[in-house]
Amino acid sequence: MGGQAQDRPAVIGGGVMGSAITAMALGHGVPVTLVEIDGEAVELAKRRVAQQLRHARLMGAFPDVPEGELTATTGLAAARDATAVVEAIVEDDKVKAAVLGELSALVAPGTPLITNTSGIPVDELAEAVERPADLLATHFMNPAYLIPNVEVVRGPRTGQSTLDAVLGLLERLSRKPIVVRDSPGFVTSRLLHPMINDAARVVEAGTASVEAVDELMQGCLGHPTGPLRTADLIGLDNLADALRALAERTGDPRHAPCALLRSKVADGHLGRKSGRGFYEYG
Ligand code: NAD
Repeated sequence: MGGQAQDRPAVIGGGVMGSAITAMALGHGVPVTLVEIDGEAVELAKRRVAQQLRHARLMGAFPDVPEGELTATTGLAAARDATAVVEAIVEDDKVKAAVLGELSALVAPGTPLITNTSGIPVDELAEAVERPADLLATHFMNPAYLIPNVEVVRGPRTGQSTLDAVLGLLERLSRKPIVVRDSPGFVTSRLLHPMINDAARVVEAGTASVEAVDELMQGCLGHPTGPLRTADLIGLDNLADALRALAERTGDPRHAPCALLRSKVADGHLGRKSGRGFYEYG
């Protein structure tokens, strides 16, 4: 399996998710234009993509096709001729809306605009774009090239042709899309993030250690890694942003990030990406 000759997606943001999504596409023979904010971020993103490609190949995540070509650069204009645009920048509705608005003015009408968000409703972001029918959300899990299932969120104004085009692309990338309706946190974040927040509260209250929480959830309840190891993989800053967004939109203050999560973010202990979160990484 590999991409169709015409697939030329652009990925905006080469952080944890953008670099993994880029690696996944390259490994399926699809050329990608990756856009970052400045030269330093471009170099960092290229290193992340190379690392993810190595990991993915080690795990046998790709079909036997020649790797797609990576163009990593700055400036949204580089996305002009893309066949689909995946926005994977920070989980901030205003920042996402501004970038999506700019992108929609740039690309040809009918080009799918995909926002990779953990839970900001598509229809809110649709306010910022010129053609709401072209916009939908994906919620890839980390690492995107290893986890086949992808939550796809159809907003009330998302067009059928946009949905069909994105489902086709995902299938060419060996993913299994699962379409859900628009709602804060969609399905996966609505269930996973409050659980992680409560796991951190259990540690905060002194009920159990980080290791004990994860071992119990893993060994007794079949969670693949334990919620706190998952939190480190997600990135605690991203998780706190997503919880804040969920609390605001559901009106439930329990979804706001707990004090332990907030203090880890304030100390720069962001999880795997910073070398320390709930666990330490070598
Ligand atoms: P991240 O902080 O690791 O990366 C974001 C990247 O976007 C940074 O490298 C930053 O330089 C870049 N960026 C910011 N503004 C930009 C702009 N205007 N143009 C180009 N690049 C820009 O964040 P992440 O963890 O990769 O998350 C990205 C999105 O994916 C978020 O909305 C997040 O909620 C969602 N998400 C994350 C995970 C996860 O496990 N981390 C899982 C699913 C969804």
